Amino acid sequence: MDQAFIPYGRQHIDEEDIAAVVAALRSDWLTTGPEVERFEASVAKVTSMKHAVAVCNGTAALHTAMFAIGIGPGDEVIVPTMTFAATANAVLFQQGIPVFADVCENTLLIDPQKVEERITPRTRAIVAVDYAGQPCDYAALQSLANHYGLVLMADACHSLGGAQANLPCGALADLSVFSFHPVKPITTAEGGMIVTNRADFAERMRRFRNHGIETDHRKRMSNGQWHYEMTDLGFNYRLSDLHCALGLSQLAKLSEWTVRRQQLASAYDVCFANHPGIRPLVKTPDVSHAYHLYVVRVPKRDIVFSRMRNAGIGVNVHYVPVHLHPYYRHRFGTGYGTCPVAEAAYNEILSLPIYPDLTGDQLQRTVETLRFALTDGKGAGS
Ligand SMILES: *Cc1c(COP(=O)(O)O)cnc(C)c1O
Repeated sequence: MDQAFIPYGRQHIDEEDIAAVVAALRSDWLTTGPEVERFEASVAKVTSMKHAVAVCNGTAALHTAMFAIGIGPGDEVIVPTMTFAATANAVLFQQGIPVFADVCENTLLIDPQKVEERITPRTRAIVAVDYAGQPCDYAALQSLANHYGLVLMADACHSLGGAQANLPCGALADLSVFSFHPVKPITTAEGGMIVTNRADFAERMRRFRNHGIETDHRKRMSNGQWHYEMTDLGFNYRLSDLHCALGLSQLAKLSEWTVRRQQLASAYDVCFANHPGIRPLVKTPDVSHAYHLYVVRVPKRDIVFSRMRNAGIGVNVHYVPVHLHPYYRHRFGTGYGTCPVAEAAYNEILSLPIYPDLTGDQLQRTVETLRFALTDGKGAGS
């Protein structure tokens, strides 16, 4: 049996990907050329959305989206606490206030009822995080957004390739944000994208990623070719042609990879069905789950974690609830009690390896090691 270290997630790079990047390197454009537009058009198509704006990473995508919807000082944005810190940090980048909502016990997805309890006259938007790759309850969230006049944003960094009620992830909110970090559904090494049907949001995002400089070419023509106008304070959040060439090549394989992740998840489900100590998160019926993560709850998680790591299985914990980070505790006074469901889950969750190249043997080794880790003092393979 192969005893090499198994990570929790990893990219798949093939010769086509390498050839695509080399071709971009040999072209006239290294950045902001034809590959960017082609990649944006392809992601827009895959998500059934009108506009896609590429940026340099998922965090920049969240920040760009916060700018697009006009988040400013004092504006409250409701975010789930069971997410990567960047989801909440992006609100702070615009001087807004992230307000943490708790998650549902069985899925760890943002709980629409907890969202409603957090709405105040200063609330401007809700960010739904498709935790682990499973789409949130968008029907409930959209009706809240409509009722209270809020923007609904999806942090879909985990869920590209997934779907709900036959709508692809990306088409379930006013704006949706993706990351192309190597562990995510497809990779550009570093990269991000925002999709939306709102032309005004798309225009603001294109400006924001390029220093806040007006991109209206006709205006430039009438004022002289050299002339440009900076109308907002933006950033250099551009994504290069090299990255986009890789992204295009990767996107062609997304549906195959999503199916593979779903097969691996069902294989895990079968293995754990009769093991009362290992409780996988619940998949809701009408979703196609993208399985960026496969998360189980186990007792004595810290001990199980060490035993797994010692046996060469790269388990991980996603996530430390954001409201428990010292930065948020000190600045906003959050802490234990703010989101009790997430806090309790945090002591039990463990992410098992899942990625397209994970083999059946590696999955079996993971399952056996986990079963052993729960019963024995030493753990398999040590
Ligand atoms: C990965 C991730 C991000 C940040 O994406 P980067 O590309 O790493 O900046 C934001 N939110 C979630 C939920 C993520 O998983």
